[in-house]
Amino acid sequence: MNLAQERLNAVCADLKLTGVANAATRLAQEASASEWSYIDFLDRVLRAETGQRQERSRTMLVRTAGFPVVKRLDDFDFAFAGAQKKQFTELASLAFIERGENVVLLGPSGVGKTHLALALGLKAAENGYKVRFYTAADLMRDIATARRQERLDNLLRGNVRMPKLLIIDELGYMPLDKAGAHDLFQVIAKRYEYGSLIVTSNLNFGQWDQTLAGDSALAAALLDRLLHHAHVIPLKGESYRLKDKRKAGLIERRSTANTAD
Ligand code: ADP
Ligand code: MG
Repeated sequence: MNLAQERLNAVCADLKLTGVANAATRLAQEASASEWSYIDFLDRVLRAETGQRQERSRTMLVRTAGFPVVKRLDDFDFAFAGAQKKQFTELASLAFIERGENVVLLGPSGVGKTHLALALGLKAAENGYKVRFYTAADLMRDIATARRQERLDNLLRGNVRMPKLLIIDELGYMPLDKAGAHDLFQVIAKRYEYGSLIVTSNLNFGQWDQTLAGDSALAAALLDRLLHHAHVIPLKGESYRLKDKRKAGLIERRSTANTAD
């Protein structure tokens, strides 16, 4: 490394310009080979810096979103789930986040609700949106812990309200007590007309009061807010987890009475 490069690296380290440090030598060679103007060269150098910063911030957004696994829309068999690929391609444009709309994915176990929620969440994080993924059980546990530690307001203002997209997976698997039902209502109310939600559930809407401590007025108020600007997408059919076993005749087909509508 020559002296000029060493000096440049030292200044870049001081100013935390790692993108410039990484790209400057290569771009200087390209500049003289292609006879760029000084302004063109400066522009490319600065864009190398913003490009690297964006990439770092997106990696961070994916890492802090709390996704349990990586799932992508490209790996989803839409025909199998009785879902319209077109609808998800439109959602994957992420315009629903810009418009503050919600997505509600309904259906029995194994039809791909979590997969689709994760895939949309990943797409959003990769595109620079702050995303937070929670299972309903984890969210309720975090809320209960925060309340005990007298920092519930912090949690509601932070992880619940701050993300542009909040995902609550598996609502309905776990029946909530009165306090839990009220907490969940607080979450939905805090997000209402503020930021997008993706919710997945195995229950149809008529059954939501069951999971909300039998409080049908609370269920109605919650659904009112959740569904006001929402894409409600029912997924149907067989459990993908069991399809190979079913094919081999090891278990019976699912009866259609079990599906959410
Ligand atoms: P649910 O949340 O509805 O219970 P999951 O999304 O957890 O179902 O799906 C169970 C497993 O099957 C996951 O590994 C998921 O990636 C896979 N899977 C489900 N449906 C599909 C599908 N239509 N195409 C590809 N993989 C699927
Ligand atoms: Mg699931």
